Amino acid sequence: MDYVGHVIRPPSEAYSMIIQVTVGCSHNMCTFCGAYKDLKPKYWVKDWETVKKDIDEASSYKYGFTKAFLADGDVLILPTEDILRIMNYIKQKNPAIETINVYGNAKAILRKTPEELTALKAAGLTVIYQGIESGNKEVLRRIRKGAFPDVMRECAAKVIDSGIKLSQTVLLGIGGKEMSHEHARDTGKLLGEMSPDFASALTVMILPNTPLYKEYQEGKFVLPDKFGLLQELQIIVKNMNVRRKCYFTSNHASNYLPIKANLPEQQSAVLKMIDQVISNKDESILKPEHMRAL
Ligand code: SF4
Repeated sequence: MDYVGHVIRPPSEAYSMIIQVTVGCSHNMCTFCGAYKDLKPKYWVKDWETVKKDIDEASSYKYGFTKAFLADGDVLILPTEDILRIMNYIKQKNPAIETINVYGNAKAILRKTPEELTALKAAGLTVIYQGIESGNKEVLRRIRKGAFPDVMRECAAKVIDSGIKLSQTVLLGIGGKEMSHEHARDTGKLLGEMSPDFASALTVMILPNTPLYKEYQEGKFVLPDKFGLLQELQIIVKNMNVRRKCYFTSNHASNYLPIKANLPEQQSAVLKMIDQVISNKDESILKPEHMRAL
């Protein structure tokens, strides 16, 4: 397979056929993200022959794939006809694959017309994964996310209207100690307004190859402590008044406290549980530092 660099995929795509279609991320500006910072050039799109060869090779494995994931960072930014060609070829070579998923940032979603999203859905695009990180405008500006809450709301509505499932991630700690409360409150509110099908809270990890690391070293960015991060989780869930069912998780390897909850049904139970952990200051049930990972 023509894999270049670290091919990153969501945890739920662990058993998917991974076809790397682009290398890197067309935005590549987020201050906390080290995924593609060392790439040279920063971003490129693979030609059809290379992608086709990889699909042929992956299709020859006797693995029995039922899902595929198109990597890297934001394949949705490609012209719709190019994505359709790749999806159709994957399905032609692998009739058992019905589900094909991608990452999509706000810019990519905004560029698609409702008709294009409907065509992608009809071709098998099932989930768009989108990192929104925060619902607070100032935090989004500081981390150079490239999109603000108004745009994110618009994107979410577009994806949900098309019938494609929306899976969004937010980052505990990304507002630093200074913006901790505002970050958590506005993130919970925005998630509630958008009401994605799936939402996950990850915890920011400060990576040496990022601008955030520099801020951290200079003392300009201070990460909340473990219980401060749990308070953020609590505030997010408290403010996350979803309009439709949402499966919320915080069981990523970077987190201290794993949670899986169907919202809105389990909102009160989750809040009670987090409250108990914070009140007891019981570190023994938190994930040990050495077991946390990206
Ligand atoms: S949009 Fe995603 S992949 Fe691209 S730089 Fe930001 S966090 Fe990294």
